[in-house]
Amino acid sequence: MNGFIMPTKMTMMMILLLLLLMMMVIITIIIIINTTKILNTETDSKCRVCQKFDETIDHIISACSILAKEQHIKRHDRVCAQLHFNICKETGVQLDKKHWYEHVPESVETGQGGNVTILWN
Ligand SMILES: [Zn+2]
Repeated sequence: MNGFIMPTKMTMMMILLLLLLMMMVIITIIIIINTTKILNTETDSKCRVCQKFDETIDHIISACSILAKEQHIKRHDRVCAQLHFNICKETGVQLDKKHWYEHVPESVETGQGGNVTILWN
């Protein structure tokens, strides 16, 4: 004996098993770091509509190129419809709906006995 202890087959197997276990832990950590947690689930953080950018509030409200084509215009028009509804009420235009969210603006409205004209789009 020269003081060096030769590992047995069992010890070698345990060392290989330990290395394998360590690799699995490292891979798991890498997966966890690269996965976004949304409501405690492992969910892809990319926008579900365009798949290009992270699905943040800012992206959905104002930056998503696909939503901008239709949904942003709809939202804009609904806000303007509320303004149109309130202006019509203030100027005495006869409205057929009681609530602003039911209001469908006409392209031309006339209020205050013909002194005010309200245009839409
Ligand atoms: Zn998007």
